[in-house]
Amino acid sequence: MSSQRLTTAEPEDTVEVTGRGADLLRDPMLNKGTAFSPEERRLLGIEGLMPFKSTTQAHQAARIYEQLHAQPDDLQRYLLLSALQNRNTRLFYRLLREHLEELMPIVYTPTVGLATQRFSRVFQSGSGVWITPDMKGRMQDVLRGILRSRTIRLLVVTDNESILGLGDQGAGGMAISVGKLALYTAAAGIDPDQALPVSLDFGTDNETLLADDQYLGWPAKRLRGAEYLALVDEFVAAVQALMPEALVQWEDFRKDNALAILDRYSNRLPSFNDDIQGTGAVVVAGLNSALTIKRERLVDQRIVIFGAGAAGLGVARQIRAQLAEEGADYERRATPVGDDQRAAVVAVLDRNGLLVDDGAIRDAYKRELAWPAAVALQQGFGPGKPRHLFDVVAQFKPTMLIGVSGVTGAFDERLVREMAKHVERPVIFPSSNPSSQCEANPADLYKWTGGRCLVAAGSPFPDVDYGGKRYRVGQGNNVFVFPGLGLGALAVRAQRVTNQMIQAASKTLAAQITKEELASGLLFPSVARLRVVSVAVALAVARQAVRDGVAGVSEDAIDRAIAATAWEPDYPSLEPV
Ligand code: NAD
Repeated sequence: MSSQRLTTAEPEDTVEVTGRGADLLRDPMLNKGTAFSPEERRLLGIEGLMPFKSTTQAHQAARIYEQLHAQPDDLQRYLLLSALQNRNTRLFYRLLREHLEELMPIVYTPTVGLATQRFSRVFQSGSGVWITPDMKGRMQDVLRGILRSRTIRLLVVTDNESILGLGDQGAGGMAISVGKLALYTAAAGIDPDQALPVSLDFGTDNETLLADDQYLGWPAKRLRGAEYLALVDEFVAAVQALMPEALVQWEDFRKDNALAILDRYSNRLPSFNDDIQGTGAVVVAGLNSALTIKRERLVDQRIVIFGAGAAGLGVARQIRAQLAEEGADYERRATPVGDDQRAAVVAVLDRNGLLVDDGAIRDAYKRELAWPAAVALQQGFGPGKPRHLFDVVAQFKPTMLIGVSGVTGAFDERLVREMAKHVERPVIFPSSNPSSQCEANPADLYKWTGGRCLVAAGSPFPDVDYGGKRYRVGQGNNVFVFPGLGLGALAVRAQRVTNQMIQAASKTLAAQITKEELASGLLFPSVARLRVVSVAVALAVARQAVRDGVAGVSEDAIDRAIAATAWEPDYPSLEPV
């Protein structure tokens, strides 16, 4: 972006620029399009490059909004917004902020899923950085050349292999990094000039992409093992050298790499994995909302997690973290809760069924998720007992069912009716994204449970009319956590993202939901309140960072630090040097 800005007054209302004429129109952080005033046009050599009328940003936003509605489908709307973002960043954020609830499904899930799949076919221009294997040994130089004087404080980095529930999307995974950062700015006011979307394009195993002559990414099979890790190491070293204050969000890596990377770098640089930790925080916040309605406690639940991937692991870990935190409380109860009883709260299934640690599980992370054989036996799953989803629901009688499998329609009528036989208010989260991969349609869940279920989905769904009542469907999406988590960590210059910071984000999110929202069927706040929620999450995360001794500022400086991080999309006045 701009190398032309010289000084920025505080607040950013006047900026001196060296660039002139068409150069300014090509700089998305400085371009105002038709909103350049007559005086700016004269002084900056823009006269004649725009039609006569000088407009306001609000006027421009109304024009683009009208154009959006004239598009034939969501992908075209995505492309229009993406072009706007690359042409006039401030106007893009003005529009996104004003219509966040309506436009989030376009810039993010579900439409962004389609954008990753069609990426090479619809590509117009890039706004992030693709790192490819040919940059080995030169990554720092390449990045230095791209960034020039920009200060980067936040990166969303994907290696494109596990995009939403869509799998390996090669270089097109960039659309996810771009979309997440758009939400960081819209929800938490992160300066987009300080944010960098990155795709680690070390190949793809998607045969359709490799066979497509139009595919624009690195045209080879994925690098794996030591070769892969050496490239990620070099990238991390370049980030540490050139962007020493930056926070890294690891995004949409396949679970083995996701875990390896999280373990490898979490103590080396401030970083977190959104698919594991963000998902855990958000889903457990929703479970806590359901518990508020049911007036019950987590330890008394029987929870089934369907899908033992990155998201399933994150949810299980977060539930266990909350159980451990509440543990001291249980110990004081008249009837203490034993280890086995606590272990039995969560049952996890992968594509082969219930995970039981019978000595045959090879993946270490799956052993972490599996029931000890003794617990399985206690729960009626001795050797030879069927362990598929329906069998587990019928035998274990879960009170909560969470779908993070990407298996469309896995929560079918027979299964849901079986679950609803055993529990008054079944809590069901078909969390897989995009909507096409969702385990159940919320409208069906209301129908099959006679309106008794408590539901949240991963993608946006319309309101449900059932039994004379209208229910709003909460979106149990990481977007309620990562912008606030990132803002809190950045504002206090956290050196690490601790598990307690993630826990603080989860609890704060649950506390943000209002009585009215709960009464309307929502288990998550309305997306319209995303900004308020994100700031509350940021405050809690920042305080926790101070408590954990990883912050670079003291407790009394937190409010100021968060306020100072806020970026506004208003145009500054531009003056020639
Ligand atoms: P992943 O590939 O790491 O894991 C998917 C898991 O599902 C695997 O363990 C696999 O064993 C299991 N699975 C696949 N088919 C199955 C079957 N037929 N029966 C049982 N299990 C099966 O993917 P992930 O990153 O964990 O994401 C999973 C889904 O969760 C995706 O659709 C993703 O979009 C969604 N997700 C939603 C949110 C949210 O905010 N709502 C956050 C993260 C992930």
